[in-house]
Amino acid sequence: MSNKPMPLATAISAPFWDGLKAGKILLQQCNSCQQWTFYPRRHCSHCLSHELSWREVDGRGTLYTYTVARVPTLPEFAGPEPQILAVVELEQGVRLNTTLVGLQPEALKVGMALKPVRARVKEDGTVLLRYTSVDVDLIELDEVLKAPPQPSADAGPAKRKIDVKDIEALKALVSETFSDWSSQVLVDQSLINDFAALSGDDYWIHTDPERARKDGPFGGTIAHGALVQVLMSRMQVPLDFEVTGFNNMVNYGSERLRFPSPVPAGSLIHARSRVKSVEVLPRGTQMVMEINVHVVGQERPAVINDLVILYM
Ligand SMILES: [Zn+2]
Repeated sequence: MSNKPMPLATAISAPFWDGLKAGKILLQQCNSCQQWTFYPRRHCSHCLSHELSWREVDGRGTLYTYTVARVPTLPEFAGPEPQILAVVELEQGVRLNTTLVGLQPEALKVGMALKPVRARVKEDGTVLLRYTSVDVDLIELDEVLKAPPQPSADAGPAKRKIDVKDIEALKALVSETFSDWSSQVLVDQSLINDFAALSGDDYWIHTDPERARKDGPFGGTIAHGALVQVLMSRMQVPLDFEVTGFNNMVNYGSERLRFPSPVPAGSLIHARSRVKSVEVLPRGTQMVMEINVHVVGQERPAVINDLVILYM
């Protein structure tokens, strides 16, 4: 899940964030007492002077303390776990909160030497400062979530062809076991905005990230349930059979449609399915496929759809 809050620069802190975008680490130093201050402030935290200057530093420091978060500290900070949350003491004496990367928890030692890692977290070039050991070969990370490549239509296992008149073979497909996972689809804010415009459902919980972060229950915007449901068509579930020999195949609707958990903007989703039932009815042969869509890594489905397919 990814709905992570991004830094909001203020007039006072903007030089720090702009510096990171430009590849520099800037800290405030007091012109009166020469001490350093962090986080960015209007006054020196030692002598209260307002005479502060931004100066570039190399960002090196030592591990002051840390904790290993094996569950997300807040829903919007989920994944990937575990996260090593740390306080780093810079050579200038200031301490900053950060995340350690490229290190196993067992390798951590209070006082160890650390160096900064620039992590690009947004298309606009926003950078967060992470840290790693001076011995690790890492200076930059690209953490911008991207849509994964889609497999070609004929990728996947060879399909067993089953004639629609072979009811016994169709009934043998009924199973409690789900297929493997489908390809993944990125549900980002622009896709959600497009669906809001198309459907007319532009409720703020979908379309207003600022308000959704402040007033909403999910720490940010979420996708429409109906959007996640229709994205099924973009995900290729690796089924090992193909029904043949029919004149017409129609989507006859759904026997059950539920949205048990939200899909935050910026999530990757995937799906899996199983054949739930096969019945011969006067209108045709009816197959119910249970399709579950999940946010990648989440156990609880975001959509459960018992899709009714009618072969005629
Ligand atoms: Zn001072």
